[in-house]
Amino acid sequence: MQMILQGTALETAVHETLVCLLPEERHGLAEDCAEGGTVTVSLTREGGDFLCRVQAVRGGEERTEECRLPPEGDSPLEQKRVETRAVKTAVYRAVVGFLPQPPVWGAMSGVKPAKPLRQAFPQGIEEEAADAFLKERFFIAPSRRKLAIRCAQKAQQLERSLPEQTGALYIGIPFCPSKCVYCSFVSGSTAQWGHLIPPYLDALCREVEATGEGFRQNGWKLDSIYMGGGTPTTLTAPQMDRLLTAVQQHLPHPREFTVEAGRPETITREKLEVLHRHGVGRISINPQSMHDEVLQNVGRLHTVQQIEECYRMARQAGNFEINMDLIAGLPGDDEAGLLESVRRLIDLQPENITIHCLARKKGSPLRFGPQGQLPAETLDAAYAMLEQAGYAPYYLYRQKYIAGNLENVGFAKGDTICRYNILMMEELCPVVALGAGGVTKICADGGRNITRLTNPKYPKEYIEHSDAICKGKQKLELEFDRLSD
Ligand code: SF4
Repeated sequence: MQMILQGTALETAVHETLVCLLPEERHGLAEDCAEGGTVTVSLTREGGDFLCRVQAVRGGEERTEECRLPPEGDSPLEQKRVETRAVKTAVYRAVVGFLPQPPVWGAMSGVKPAKPLRQAFPQGIEEEAADAFLKERFFIAPSRRKLAIRCAQKAQQLERSLPEQTGALYIGIPFCPSKCVYCSFVSGSTAQWGHLIPPYLDALCREVEATGEGFRQNGWKLDSIYMGGGTPTTLTAPQMDRLLTAVQQHLPHPREFTVEAGRPETITREKLEVLHRHGVGRISINPQSMHDEVLQNVGRLHTVQQIEECYRMARQAGNFEINMDLIAGLPGDDEAGLLESVRRLIDLQPENITIHCLARKKGSPLRFGPQGQLPAETLDAAYAMLEQAGYAPYYLYRQKYIAGNLENVGFAKGDTICRYNILMMEELCPVVALGAGGVTKICADGGRNITRLTNPKYPKEYIEHSDAICKGKQKLELEFDRLSD
């Protein structure tokens, strides 16, 4: 839609709201965009209140709405917050009337739906108040309000039990046996980047050592380590052994240690034994779909049978807690196919099942089901099956261009949650990231203040800049010191 702003510079607020409502369309200021109708937004002060009036025109129909809010403080930041809320509310109310049904996430544009709840209710997330907050502030549907509240409560519980001066750590291995068509990670196939694995491992072991030095000097503890990528089990057993030896030697002992063993064709008994020997307690085996045809559609080189064999092998090889990922919205899949995949995973009984919605590349059409759509009801049916089988949601996030404008949800049996997922997603503690593309996040004040330090994105640059990266990890000490002041 074409955005016309009068008396306000809150272009981002208007744009974000339009993306929530019409994610498939382009929106921009009048001079940049002439598609899909117009939305005229004016913001004034009346009797001390902020008053936003919106006139929206689309398909020959006109709708007007307004939102009046009293000020909540004198500081520019407080004023801007109220202005933003008035603008978002009025735009949402005006434009939602053009849609056959409102989006389940309403006007929630952030990717972490549980976070505003923790910030609004630091003393405890009481269900009724939290529900009213999400409904009035963001117009979220009841099913998603419930989901956000449950995940926020889990995060708050973890936040309260977290010892001081504790961080989490991510190790990135950006190599995979082949590239999945939907992949948006920095990761190359072994055919393309395999020659970089030995020097990459050298650089990574050096970074592990430098980071360990920083942790030791500051007396920092480590709650959890997560090794992801890419597919870490692309490393051979001796390579994995070398890396994990360095981790054990230089870093504090974590309470939780997860390694993504995403692609079943990379997993061997020998590698599983290496993981087990070095204290890895959680692995993630990611089928994405339990249909061979769908797997072929997306460039995966393994079969469903390999997934099941690999799962059984992992059960025999060590006392691992196992997560399994599915993706809703893959090309050639449909509701019946997705629910069948969920059922087959439930039969295997992993401790965790995570359901992602396909994050599409910009502008690419969805090829799920006969209509090319992923309705919220399809996911509701999958969630109901999981709940019935004893799984509860524990972490939640959303992404840009996500199928159906929906969400990704991790489910766990009992207390088998992946702590790292919550710590990282809810920004509850510093997360130190090692390897190419690693983004270290120093989070303070429950995730309100965040400093980011980035490693080079690609393995070649990462290897070339190894010295500087290791020195940079020394500088982390200062950041940690400042945090604990
Ligand atoms: S396994 Fe994961 S990281 Fe590797 S190509 Fe597929 S989606 Fe990307």
